Amino acid sequence: MVFTPKYPSSDPPPPSPYDWIDRSLETIHRAHWYRAPKTIASKPGTVIELEGKTVLNFASNDYLGLAGDDRLIQAAIGATQQWGTGSTGSRLLSGHRPIHRELEVAIAQWKQTEDAIVFSSGYLANLGTIAALVGPRDLILSDTYNHSSLRNGAKLSGAKILDYAHCDMEHLHTLLQQHRANYRRCLVISNSVFSMGGDLCPLPELLAIAKSYQCMVLLDEAHGTGVLGITGAGCVEHFGCIGQPLVEMGTLSKALGGLGGYVAGSSALIDYLRNRAASWIYTTGLSPADTAAALAAVGIIQEESDRRQQLWHNVNHLRIGLQDCLADGTSKLLPSTSSILCVQVSQPEAALRVSHQLMESGCYVPAIRPPTVPTSRLRISLMSTHTAYQIDQLLAAFKTMLPINESYRV
Ligand SMILES: *Cc1c(COP(=O)(O)O)cnc(C)c1O
Repeated sequence: MVFTPKYPSSDPPPPSPYDWIDRSLETIHRAHWYRAPKTIASKPGTVIELEGKTVLNFASNDYLGLAGDDRLIQAAIGATQQWGTGSTGSRLLSGHRPIHRELEVAIAQWKQTEDAIVFSSGYLANLGTIAALVGPRDLILSDTYNHSSLRNGAKLSGAKILDYAHCDMEHLHTLLQQHRANYRRCLVISNSVFSMGGDLCPLPELLAIAKSYQCMVLLDEAHGTGVLGITGAGCVEHFGCIGQPLVEMGTLSKALGGLGGYVAGSSALIDYLRNRAASWIYTTGLSPADTAAALAAVGIIQEESDRRQQLWHNVNHLRIGLQDCLADGTSKLLPSTSSILCVQVSQPEAALRVSHQLMESGCYVPAIRPPTVPTSRLRISLMSTHTAYQIDQLLAAFKTMLPINESYRV
């Protein structure tokens, strides 16, 4: 059968149902919110080739410099040779390999939890876990600065969502007092390290409040794992909260240098997720290469604590240097307890301009602006592999741009 168009050819063509996309793109451009990926044509590291220019990289989540480590690369190659490129199915059907379990056991041992489960990404771990833990009869309390995957997981669950002010435990307490009794289960969700500021969630207080209101807690350790705590087990270890009832989530794609996500917790929790987390059940198992690279990383991170020491040494070096630069008070360093340091800049245009100028001087430091964050900032992310000289180069470049806000006015 031949498809006959309904409209005679003399009539103007009917509007396309996709026309709105062009209009939406125009709106994004007009608001200066348009973004496009920048090409990095080099291996991960502190020096990268960004859009054809060699620059120092202060924008990576590869905090311990493992993404380009030869041991991870060899582990990925070996696993690919042994198990092939793909897992070929869901873990529950045909996609489960011995290395998946090895990785899960290694994560659970490191985190000192009964068990762990690995997902194909951190984003999927949050979506699947939150939607499995709560539903329409339940309540979610969420920090206003939580990562997109936590917020979208909350939406997907169908639970009632209440946002509490950033790290404001009094506000969390008040909301629980007012609303907890009207719901069946309650889940408090929070980043452990906030990705756009580098500050930490006040975990001990949060756990105490949650306990007194019979709430579960999901802590997203994406930027804490590998970085915080004596063994790099994260914010939970940093605060001495190991062993407390908690749903610990994290990613294999930041300090661990690969791709994937995980949840660690009680055996019952993990067993339940294997049966109820749709983003784990209905997706292909993590690839052999990613699984083996993460397994290698989990070992290296615990054995090579000097990487973490070097990272903190770098953080202190940069912090002292920035505090010195910003002593005039025109811009300020946001409080941070992580490898992410942010310089607040009052005007979004000034933040963009300084970021461009830093790039000219050979330093890649992105400007983060509303609506991603409430106040514009330059976001510097450090790696253990940055040298003192590289950090000094950034500080020197930064000094020539001060004071930031006045440099924008001229
Ligand atoms: C990066 C990140 C995620 C997502 O992890 P991926 O493995 O990259 O999908 C989740 N939560 C937070 C806080 C993150 O920073």
